[in-house]
Amino acid sequence: MSQASRAAEQQAAQRGLLAELLREFAELWAIIRLGAFATTIPQWIAAVELLLGEYAAMSATLAGDYYDEERDLARVGGRFTFPMPDAPPREKVEASLRWATKDLWIPEQQAPAPIEERLRVAEDKAGGAAQKIVADVGREAVLAAVDEDPQAIGWFRVAAPNACAFCRMLAIRGAVYQSEQTADFQAHNSCSCTAAPVFEGQTWEPPADVAEWRRMYEDSTKGERNKLKAFRRAVEGR
Ligand SMILES: [Zn+2]
Repeated sequence: MSQASRAAEQQAAQRGLLAELLREFAELWAIIRLGAFATTIPQWIAAVELLLGEYAAMSATLAGDYYDEERDLARVGGRFTFPMPDAPPREKVEASLRWATKDLWIPEQQAPAPIEERLRVAEDKAGGAAQKIVADVGREAVLAAVDEDPQAIGWFRVAAPNACAFCRMLAIRGAVYQSEQTADFQAHNSCSCTAAPVFEGQTWEPPADVAEWRRMYEDSTKGERNKLKAFRRAVEGR
């Protein structure tokens, strides 16, 4: 199996974890009761915090096992211990969940959209934010490992086969080498992109689908000022 296909397999595993998270998350949504937001929203936040802690640990374990295996296969030698990340910070979780549910608090005098609709939107936003919190733990752990590991020279982004234009655009840029400035991992809510390490002696070769995205990007953005917009149109088949 090639480096690229192992990376795609890891991305699929992390994506599966996020899908599972969303199913459990949907069950917890029932904690929030109409007419009792002041008591039930804090209860819900506490329950989601626990859930995210569990999933973040699973994401970190998947990422760590993958990193160790890649390191073995690269035969770079030396000892390295994958830095297991902490649980997602409580403040980050709370801030995200409060942001996602803030429209539930709009007073009736301001004539907001019907509460059923705002509940639906809030659930969607909170689910996407929860997925990002978990996914961030796995991918940031890989970035931290690359940073600390003397034998790692960079990382590349792995996007899902059906990823959005934004993620594809970042994925086709290829590996970010440490000689360059360490770039942050840019991600939107619900994004399942992962980071894959590149070790001494390896070079990143784009797999067939990424090479195809690259061609599509070049074709669709030629002469366009807003490249992301043009690429998005092409990705969405408009
Ligand atoms: Zn993404």
